[in-house]
Amino acid sequence: MEAEAKGKAGSLMDIGLLRNYDLYQYLLETSVYPHEADSLKELRALTSTHPMAVMGTNPDSGQLMGLLLKLVNAKRTIEIGVFTGYSLLLTALTIPEDGKITAIDPDRSSYEIGLPIIKKAGVEHKIDFVEAEALPALEKLLEDHDNHDAFDFAFVDADKHNYVSYHEKLLGLLKPGGMVIYDNTLWAGTVAMPEDSVPPGLLPFRKPVIELNKYLTADTRVQICQVPVGDGMTICRRL
Ligand code: SAH
Ligand code: CA
Repeated sequence: MEAEAKGKAGSLMDIGLLRNYDLYQYLLETSVYPHEADSLKELRALTSTHPMAVMGTNPDSGQLMGLLLKLVNAKRTIEIGVFTGYSLLLTALTIPEDGKITAIDPDRSSYEIGLPIIKKAGVEHKIDFVEAEALPALEKLLEDHDNHDAFDFAFVDADKHNYVSYHEKLLGLLKPGGMVIYDNTLWAGTVAMPEDSVPPGLLPFRKPVIELNKYLTADTRVQICQVPVGDGMTICRRL
């Protein structure tokens, strides 16, 4: 794991927001890895060879998610952006036996990479995988009145330029007191960098993330906290 993390440390995304490899390793080794489920470790190892491995949720972000899922007693959840399923498996392991996750991603093939590990962990029955773009999928959920004010929790980790649209839909689906987490809201720290010093690969989502942050902080329908864990997570509680 250490060699793997060191090998990737060149990119802004991989050194974490702490910008200090040793401190980040300390955090992971002291407080995160000892509590990470074996199936999540296995999924992380499997994903590490994927060309887009950097997209997988960091285990420290996952640990915070697990805590928040428990705090809101999450039973019905929505996940937007599955990839190989780290945050999905974490959610499935955390919610109760009769809990359900509506997991939305147009890319089924990445989900299928992690699926054998999800099956082995015995939690596949909690997952309803929807192979679709999130916006039409959320609109479809809203067509059924039973889904209004019905979900306890949502994790949004997909195409950043659509987060504001997702937010509007999710507010209709979440219970009052329910929680939505937006991931990557500090976008490798580039939100606070002058545009001309941002690596080109990170430019496309930088402005949408800055716009999202302004939007969420002005939204009186939610209580928010932007946490510099992983790549930045904004935790919103529906009022
Ligand atoms: N949460 C995942 C990482 C998600 S990476 C984990 O923990 O590993 C981002 C994912 O968003 C990719 O799988 C991509 O296919 C998906 N995505 C991109 N555009 C999307 C859209 N419009 N709707 C839903 N998912 C989308
Ligand atoms: Ca992410």
